[in-house]
Amino acid sequence: MTAPATVDTGYEVVIGLEVHAQLLTRSKMFCSCSAAYTTAPPNSNTCPVCLGLPGALPVINRQAVEMTVRTALALNCEIPPFTKFDRKNYFYPDLPKGYQISQYDLPLSQDGHLEFDVDGVRTRCGVTRVHLEEDTGTMHHAGDVLQEATSSLVDLNRCGVPLMEIVGEPDLRSADAAREYLVRLRQILVYIGVNDGNLEEGSLRCDANVSLRVRGATELGTKVEVKNMNSFRAVHHAITFEIERQARVLDDGGALVQETRGWVEARGATVSQRSKEMAHDYRYFPEPDLPPLQLGRDLVESIRAAIPELPEARAARFSSQYGLSAYDAAVLTGVRAEADTYEALVDAGVSAKVAANWQMGDVAALANEHHVALADSGLGVGGLAALLALVESGAINGSTAKELLSELYIVGGDPAALVTERGLGQVGDAAQLAAVVAEVIEANPKACADFRGGREAALQSLVGQVMKATRGRADARMVTTLLRERLSG
Ligand SMILES: [Zn+2]
Repeated sequence: MTAPATVDTGYEVVIGLEVHAQLLTRSKMFCSCSAAYTTAPPNSNTCPVCLGLPGALPVINRQAVEMTVRTALALNCEIPPFTKFDRKNYFYPDLPKGYQISQYDLPLSQDGHLEFDVDGVRTRCGVTRVHLEEDTGTMHHAGDVLQEATSSLVDLNRCGVPLMEIVGEPDLRSADAAREYLVRLRQILVYIGVNDGNLEEGSLRCDANVSLRVRGATELGTKVEVKNMNSFRAVHHAITFEIERQARVLDDGGALVQETRGWVEARGATVSQRSKEMAHDYRYFPEPDLPPLQLGRDLVESIRAAIPELPEARAARFSSQYGLSAYDAAVLTGVRAEADTYEALVDAGVSAKVAANWQMGDVAALANEHHVALADSGLGVGGLAALLALVESGAINGSTAKELLSELYIVGGDPAALVTERGLGQVGDAAQLAAVVAEVIEANPKACADFRGGREAALQSLVGQVMKATRGRADARMVTTLLRERLSG
């Protein structure tokens, strides 16, 4: 049994997540500026459109619309035939237009869901909608964590970067469930190539609406929106803190205020930021500079057809098709490139079990050590397949393969050629091995006597001597058989 994630407060916890995901398009949402805002000098990726200068006209980024539809379909949403953009009006220094182009009452998609396991229990969370909007600029405050800034700088490079908002239903009932939902959602977004999944750098951001109610009540309690969580751990901590804080207020007979609170990592606490705005505060109205969109069914269906097999389905297939354990299948399919690598190895003729063991073992260790994935290493997927083919055919043994792997991973090269050049081929020739075995028996009378006397472990030490004499190249199984024959004969 695992320990409960949070203290049972006696209340029912209700959580809904709003996730913002930047789309991996080359250009911004409504202009041709580059969307690569982190690497450019401040305020250099800008133009009259994303600066909101008078008279500039936005143009919809087609790829951003298609990526949003792809996401919505992967989350089992419906795609209505008609959608439009709206202006969400508010003032902030990182929003030079004074409004954000977003979607209000007719979003690109609605009514989806995401399923995942929480402590082995199948859980479903509704997805209210996935809509498309633009990101704002960024503020840099010179000051402390309590935002008592002494000066602030604004960078508008991020202004207008395509942003998807994925609004979840308040179906989550614990901090564990919220974290698991976010883990699964992130995995899907990365899998389908729409987002890089970087919570730390904010290209994927999560806000949590948290409220409590007396068990059995049907009405929702007062909800508090928690922001500024930039890791899975922070999401779990912040929600746990917020549940306990709200329970204390309610237990003391107090009332909660509908507000936005920020998670302050250094303090391990949420801190009140402002009272929560209502939709009518934003004075939404249809964006007059953009036409509504009518999405053809054939376009939607062609996007659906191009969605890759999603991680959970792929893991299930890996288990049945390759005979892998559920754990191995989940590890190998967690990242799309890793799953592709695995299938490439199997397609190249490596047996399913051998490919899984090497990929999750020595290859994963090397990838970690050098921060280079196999596909980008000197060896490459083809090189590893060639190396493992040598093991499976008996041309080299496992320990020789391991040594070659660490070397080839960095410098690259043809495994078969290297084996020939260095004389690393496995010694599997019976006559050749028989001669070495005879020498080892001659030189180790005590171990031989021990084995004949019934001490099985003595055999291992003799096998070790033969391996040493052949510089690790002997076929260990054949050596064991030969030694047994000789010593019992
Ligand atoms: Zn621009």
